[in-house]
Amino acid sequence: MTSASAGGLAQQVDGREMAPGFAGIGILAFTTTRSMGTFGLQGGEPVGEVFARWGALRESLGGARLASARQVHGATIIRHVPGWSGWLRADDADGHLAPLRGTAMAVTVADCVPVFVGHRNGAAALLHSGWRGTAARIIAEAVTMLAKENAPASELIVHCGPAICGRCYEVSPDVYATLTGKSVDRPTTVDLRALIADHARSLGVREITVSERCTRCDNDRFYSHRAGDAGRQLGVMLAEPR
Ligand SMILES: [Zn+2]
Repeated sequence: MTSASAGGLAQQVDGREMAPGFAGIGILAFTTTRSMGTFGLQGGEPVGEVFARWGALRESLGGARLASARQVHGATIIRHVPGWSGWLRADDADGHLAPLRGTAMAVTVADCVPVFVGHRNGAAALLHSGWRGTAARIIAEAVTMLAKENAPASELIVHCGPAICGRCYEVSPDVYATLTGKSVDRPTTVDLRALIADHARSLGVREITVSERCTRCDNDRFYSHRAGDAGRQLGVMLAEPR
């Protein structure tokens, strides 16, 4: 079943929240939903069930090799070159970059922003950007790395997927100052996706979209850490082989 949501940008297909704009350049990009179950490896669900879910995901991606990592809220992006197969769980990293088609990538999220970055030549990057990653400008790292893959900023497509919205995400004055450069005297709400979109725009990216879905407002559809969920959905990206 396919249904277009407000604005016609996002689509839900078989429980996947599709990132708009990527199908036209041969890149599959989506966020899983609660209906697909948790992909978190530390959520307390039976490990066999979670692993089976990852296995089914790989099958649904045509058996493509799949990159993931232990996420540490940093700005490290792994560039995936030939040399491994299967399901990789790399050490500390919050982003993946595949210069060539055929490598699937996944990040786990539950309020943090899954950021999808792609180019028509098949180069793609997928980021996990919470407040720390946003403050550390992981999006800038991705744009810089992609420029070296003949994918300049002005030709990139960027999408910020389902994440906690600017009305739901309250942070301490310290974090607010780190993110915005402005000082406040009490906990204040901040819109991470608007900040990431601003950063991308200032780097020369022209095609930027932001999902209207909030993991907390739409908690029936997505896992939300702030809403108390231990579960995690995945941002998934695969530039399909041609
Ligand atoms: Zn919200």
